[in-house]
Amino acid sequence: MNRVGFFQSIRLKIIIVLILFLLLAIQVVGAYFVNKLEDNLNKNFESNFEERVQILVTNLEEVLTKDRTGDEDGPTLQDEVKDIINRYSADIFTDLQVVDTQLRVIGADGRLERIGKRVTGDSNISVALQFDQQEEELFRNQYNNDRTLRRTVPIVDSETGNPVGVLQVDASIEEIYTLLENVTQIFLNATMLAIVVSIVLGFLVARSITKPITEMRKQAMIMARGDFSKKVNVYGADEIGQLAITFNNMNDRLKLANQTTEEERRKLSSVLSNMSDGVIATDENGAITLINGPASNMIGIAPEEAKGQMIVEVLQMEDKVIDVKELEETGSLTIDFSTDEELFLVKANFSIVQDEEETFTGLITVISDVTEQEKVERERREFVSNVSHELRTPLTTMKSYIEALNEGAWEDKELAPHFLNVTQNETDRMIRLVNDLLQLSKMDHKDKTMNKEQTDLVPLVHHILDRFDMNKTELIDIERKVPDEKIEVWIDTDKITQVIDNIMSNAIKYSPEGGKITFQLIRERKRIKISIQDQGLGIAREKVDKIFERFYRVDKARSRELGGTGLGLAISKEIIEAHHGHIWANSKEGQGTTIYFTLPLMNLKRGGRR
Ligand code: ADP
Repeated sequence: MNRVGFFQSIRLKIIIVLILFLLLAIQVVGAYFVNKLEDNLNKNFESNFEERVQILVTNLEEVLTKDRTGDEDGPTLQDEVKDIINRYSADIFTDLQVVDTQLRVIGADGRLERIGKRVTGDSNISVALQFDQQEEELFRNQYNNDRTLRRTVPIVDSETGNPVGVLQVDASIEEIYTLLENVTQIFLNATMLAIVVSIVLGFLVARSITKPITEMRKQAMIMARGDFSKKVNVYGADEIGQLAITFNNMNDRLKLANQTTEEERRKLSSVLSNMSDGVIATDENGAITLINGPASNMIGIAPEEAKGQMIVEVLQMEDKVIDVKELEETGSLTIDFSTDEELFLVKANFSIVQDEEETFTGLITVISDVTEQEKVERERREFVSNVSHELRTPLTTMKSYIEALNEGAWEDKELAPHFLNVTQNETDRMIRLVNDLLQLSKMDHKDKTMNKEQTDLVPLVHHILDRFDMNKTELIDIERKVPDEKIEVWIDTDKITQVIDNIMSNAIKYSPEGGKITFQLIRERKRIKISIQDQGLGIAREKVDKIFERFYRVDKARSRELGGTGLGLAISKEIIEAHHGHIWANSKEGQGTTIYFTLPLMNLKRGGRR
């Protein structure tokens, strides 16, 4: 938020309003006062003027109508007029003249000496004489430029009613105006002073109002940055004080709400990062806004890199999905992230986020690794199909031979025993197969209860190998590299015998005539390693690891011919793993095969089992 400049501030507005009110008040009062004063002064002046003029007129009428015949010694008309003027003329008159009917000046008081002169060209005087009519005129005095009121009054003989002369007086009214101007000036000065005082007062008043508001504004800006630690001062119980109290309450509530939100956020973030499933949230356009650690690990993209990218691109489903809003209807999708080397399948569940108006605001996607699940499912399907296949072959063979016997071959002394022999072999094979399957099934159901006991491995190995030496028909040499010492292991003797039997028979089966089989027993730090090496046809590199899978056979026809079920090594693997050991093969096509397996050595010092 920006700072509020003085010209936009409430302070200036309050000062301006105060000054305007003041000016208005002074104007109204001043206008009324000056108007009244002017009226009053005018009235006073008029009545005074009128009164003086009347006195003069009355006295002059007397003098002018006086019969002067036979009174030559008495004062002259002019003397008498002069005497009246001297006596009754007032200060307010700036000029005064009395004119007789012949328009001759018979008395005057003023700047000019004009007694005896005739007045010509003054229309007012002639009008007054002729029509017995008072005239009034306002003009500017030519000598001092004063505003002057001139009154021309006919002097009438009250007996005859004829005019006997004219009295003309001038009076300056400049004084009234000067007085009014002075008063106005005083008002102006007072106004200026009032303005200055009101600016100061306005400033103080405005400050007292705006100070708490300014403080609140600053506090609001601090709150906007997420700091709720400070409070505003409360300066009184007025509206602004109430506002400050409410503001502080709001601060408290926001602080609480903020803490709660923060706590929830932390909880959510800890849940998101500690859960094993991946979570991806997007906005309404499908752009990623949040991605947790497991999700970014699964997809193989850094969280910072993923943010802002479109979910359909990140989850590689551009070809399946056009609009993200449709994803909820899709429910869940299995997405294949497999590479050439590795199978990797991810299941994504979608749910949409809506606001109160049920508008789509985003998408929450939960992804989980379903590779193992899928692998197990595939293996199960393969297993069922393999078992069916393995059983069907001997059954079909048996069926055809039995059919042939049925159709009369039983009478043929040569064919019948052969046919019966084949059927028996096939039955044997099926029994072996079913037995192998039963053993595997037991192991799968964790029914791996081995009858383990402390055994010295060296005599056991010699015993097994002796059996092979005795029974072998082909010209195969079995070399033993077995140390002459006690090697104590904790094993199920029958099961380990089965493993060695199986590996040894394979080695013999796949060895060429005159080949050599090397049986070696090597003691390592904490385990014993057994290797059985032959000089047979070997196994291609990419198939080596697969020989431990159920029903896997490199050469199906040959294995079957040799009576194999394809389960021997799978069972061996289960047994070795149940003994906490490992089994693996090393082979090169045409250069023989070595099968290794390890068993943990017993810790004789402690006497415990390993
Ligand atoms: P089988 O009953 O067919 O021998 P196994 O599980 O014992 O079944 O062996 C699986 C497959 O591994 C065999 O079919 C064979 O192709 C291959 N295999 C096992 N041992 C050897 C070996 N020593 N040399 C070559 N191939 C072998």
